[in-house]
Order: sequence, then C-alpha cells, then structure tokens
Amino acid sequence: RNYSIEELRALDQKHFLHPTSPVKTENGPAFIFTEGKGVYLYDITGKKVIDGMSSLWNVNIGHGRTELGEVAKEQMDKLAFSSCFATFSNEPAILLAEKLAGLAPGDLSTTFFTSGGSESNDSAYKLARHYWILKGEVSRKKIISRSKSYHGVAIGATSATGLKAFRDFTNSNAPDFLYVDHFSTKALRDLIETEGPETIAAFITEPVQGAGGVHVAPENYFKEIREICDEYGILMITDEVITGFGRTGKFFAMEHYNVVPDMMCFAKGVTSGYAQLGGVMISEKIHREFSELSVGTILHGYTYSGHPMACAVGLKNIEIIEKENLVANSAARGQELLEGLKALQAKYPFIVNARGLGLMAGLEVFSEGSLLAPQIVLEAAKVGLICRAVVLDGQDVVVFSPPLSISQAELKDLLNLLDKAIQEVENKITA
Ligand code: PLP
Repeated sequence: RNYSIEELRALDQKHFLHPTSPVKTENGPAFIFTEGKGVYLYDITGKKVIDGMSSLWNVNIGHGRTELGEVAKEQMDKLAFSSCFATFSNEPAILLAEKLAGLAPGDLSTTFFTSGGSESNDSAYKLARHYWILKGEVSRKKIISRSKSYHGVAIGATSATGLKAFRDFTNSNAPDFLYVDHFSTKALRDLIETEGPETIAAFITEPVQGAGGVHVAPENYFKEIREICDEYGILMITDEVITGFGRTGKFFAMEHYNVVPDMMCFAKGVTSGYAQLGGVMISEKIHREFSELSVGTILHGYTYSGHPMACAVGLKNIEIIEKENLVANSAARGQELLEGLKALQAKYPFIVNARGLGLMAGLEVFSEGSLLAPQIVLEAAKVGLICRAVVLDGQDVVVFSPPLSISQAELKDLLNLLDKAIQEVENKITA
C-alpha cells in the first residue's frame, strides 16, 4: 500500500533511531528524500534542494548516475558475494586494489578493504600496533590525534576523535589514545617527549579537518609532522575519508603538501556513496613486514572486506571521476566557491572567516550570545540549499561540500541561495 507522508513521518519517529541526531523531533524527519539527480535532491513533497554537502561529504560524482546501478546489478547477477578471507579473492577487489595503488601517493600500494570510514580507522590502529609487535617494539601502542579531528564512531575511531563531545557520548573509551592541538607541531613534539617515543605507535590526521569545521592546516604543517614522525620512528596515518577522490582539487589531499604517509584511510568518495566501501592503504615497508617477514596471520578482517559488488561500483566511480575530469572541476569550482564565500564575508559583518580547499569549505560566523550557523542552515533548507552547521568545541561554522560535478551555474545558484538565507538571518537578528 502507499503510505501518506504523515504516516511515514510518524513511523520514522516511532521506529527509526537516526544516526547523529536529536533524539526528539517535533514532526519526524524534515526531509524524506525520494530521488537524486546531479547536485539536486528531491523529497517526498516534491521539494527540490541543492545537495551542498554531497549528502555526507561523499556523493562526489553527484546523484542519479545509473551506470553505477548497472555495474552493481551485473556484478550481483554474476557473483553477489564471496569471501576474501585468507586465500579467497575476487576480480573486482583485485582490480580496485591495483587501481588504488596507481592513484595513491608514494609507495602506498596495498589495500585492506572495509565497509566505511570508521572501520578503516579502527583497522589502521590495529594494523599499526600489529606492525610494531612484528618489529619487536611491543610498547608502541599509543595513537595520537589532533584536536577538532573526527575519525568516526567505532570504539577506536571515537577514541581517536578530537571533538570531545563524541567521546563524552559514552563513559568509557578505548585506552592509549592521546590528543594534541590541531595546528601545533611543537605540541606534538612535546607530547611525544613526555610520553616517550617508544610508547607511540602512530599519529593520525585528516589532511583538512571536515566534521570539526573545515580547518585547513598551515602550509608547512604536514611536512613538519612527517619529519617528527620519522625522527621518532612513529607511523603517520592520514584519514582521507572525506578528502580523498577529488574532494580538495587533487585526487588525494596530501598531494597538496607532497607528503606521503605510512598508511592512508579512505571511504565515502571511493564509491560516491553508491555502495558501502572503505579501506586502509599501507606502504610497501609495512606490507613487506606483514607478508614476507611474518609467519603469523592478520587476525583482523570483516565479512565484507573486499565485497565484490562494492568494489565493482568503486571501479566504475573512479572511472567516471577520471573520464569527466572531476578533480580539475573540484579545483576550479572550489576556487569560485571560496571567492563567493569571501564576498559574503565582505557583505555581512557577522561572518568572520571563509576558508576551504577545493570543494570543501567553511564559513565561520559569530554573534555574541547566540549560534548563527544552525539558523543559517535552517533558512538555507527553506530556500532550497542543504548545508551543515558545526557547533562543537565552541565553534559556529557553516560547512559546504557539494558534488564535484557541480557546474559554474549551479555553484552560482548555491551561493545565491546561501546569500538569501544569510540575509534572512541578518533580518532576524537586527529586527
Ligand atoms: N573519518 C573522517 C575524516 C570522516 O569524516 C568520517 C565520517 O564522516 C569518518 C572517518 C567515519 O566514516 P564512516 O561514517 O563511513 O564510518
């Protein structure tokens, strides 16, 4: 039978505990999406909105690309699933691992597959610690991350997340996680010295902090981080879950900084959300330790590691990113987005900063005594633009991450709608 919109809203409220959500909502979900095409989403009431977030920073190629459905069906008809444990494998997983090796920086040439970003980060911590066990340095188990970082919600990923509110959601986190100021290399060095380098397994960092409010690191930050990691023999892990697959105007964001990590986590953009897939890429040095020098077993693996359908979708998605020059488009449109945000900053006194890299941007606002970003996001949704507010850690930032396929005209529309929304908020606060 056909459910009415009111019935669906009521059923949602009763039966669906949403991820990262207020527990109580007045009328159930604000949007029940039914269709997507390019940068646009359509909801059950027929309302059309620009998906200024690529949903969750992930629909890089845009919505409604039927080729991905075709590839998924073809693969599922042929072989929907088989295990990749031990000596079992499948063609899409092999070919995607090979493709990624060609795209990733430096000697990151081997992939451990997962189903998403949180699993990828937990896997990276475990693989890093196992590496040190194999090397005979068993005391190296601490993982250092940055303030304002977000690494996901599995217990390890949450424990590594610098945004404290996520850690405070439960009253117990995983041990051996430490945090440093997100821009200070001196703080990292001091922490390593205080703890003892022989106790540190790895340092993890997002190239551009996303959920923490879109923070682009100072120019030499990653070079210095790489040097510190090398000096103390600490593994450097980059979390490219948001920044990978063209988001920042390079295929992987660390290319902006010419720094090669020892491990790199990815997810989201690898399939543009058309299938659930993530992974950790490891350097040749680490892979050699695991595969040639060790007689043990990698006692770590998910049922869906190397899922054939997800990997086939990943391959097709990458083919589209490459064929349609979406990385170059991300760089060009990203520049226009940043210029547009800076123009808004010049127009409205309560906008204090506009920042970004490629199609990942943040607009920082400030008003004594009230948060503005959530109001802007609310007004934007009313006029047809989805964006997101970051208010954790005392911040007030509106963030943007539209599909890499966005055209110049669509980007202008996005900025016009945002201007309208901000004007509405200004009218309210000056009334
Ligand atoms: N790492 C980063 C940088 C992220 O932004 C996210 C999700 O937003 C994750 C990890 C977690 O990924 P997932 O939600 O797929 O588990």
